[in-house]
Amino acid sequence: LFITFEGGEGAGKSTQIRILGGRLRDYARELVVTREPGGTDLAERLRAFILGGKAKQFGPLGEAVLFSAARIDHIDRVIAPAIARGAVVLCDRFADSTRAYQGARGEVDEKVLEALETTTLAGCRPDLTFILDLAPEVGLARARQRRGELGADRFESEADSFHHLLRQKFRDIASDDPDRCRLIDATQSETWVAAAIWRAIAEKFRQ
Ligand code: C5P
Repeated sequence: LFITFEGGEGAGKSTQIRILGGRLRDYARELVVTREPGGTDLAERLRAFILGGKAKQFGPLGEAVLFSAARIDHIDRVIAPAIARGAVVLCDRFADSTRAYQGARGEVDEKVLEALETTTLAGCRPDLTFILDLAPEVGLARARQRRGELGADRFESEADSFHHLLRQKFRDIASDDPDRCRLIDATQSETWVAAAIWRAIAEKFRQ
């Protein structure tokens, strides 16, 4: 079972993954919690390289390719083997983040991003994706409080208009693929969001 969490900055993905992980321990034969960009040594190095601002000169297509290279390693070494063992995999960001972050401004042809995604995933698609949705003003304020201005990475410091495009992109992804995606109101309390997620999982996997 492969479940991913997506959303803009400060949406509360990591908190929700922690809560869900705690609940799933009683049910799952094995639980694997991982994140993107990252999840393997190589992918974590790419994460540091890109988020440190060094990849800026590649532009959004180059970045999408780098994130995809990291993702291929992550799928091959961590996600696909875990799914094959029957584990439940919870992943903080996945392919939708590339569609949203590298696609938000429309600088890369959507068809190109789609083709890149299809090739990268090679069929390794999430069963369920939670898109935590909230106004960027609220999310950015939370993220800044958490990391402090100095710790903010490149994408967090993008112009506010970018974060509005990003939110719209995530909402579009959710409405384009309602079977896989659940849009969750992330302005609600932690407990409310956790309950919504738990309910969605129960509904999806009731059979
Ligand atoms: O979720 P987390 O805050 O750890 O994400 C790290 C950063 O990576 C985010 O600030 C996000 O803006 C950026 N990112 C990106 N493109 C991706 C995935 C993540 O710009 N495909």
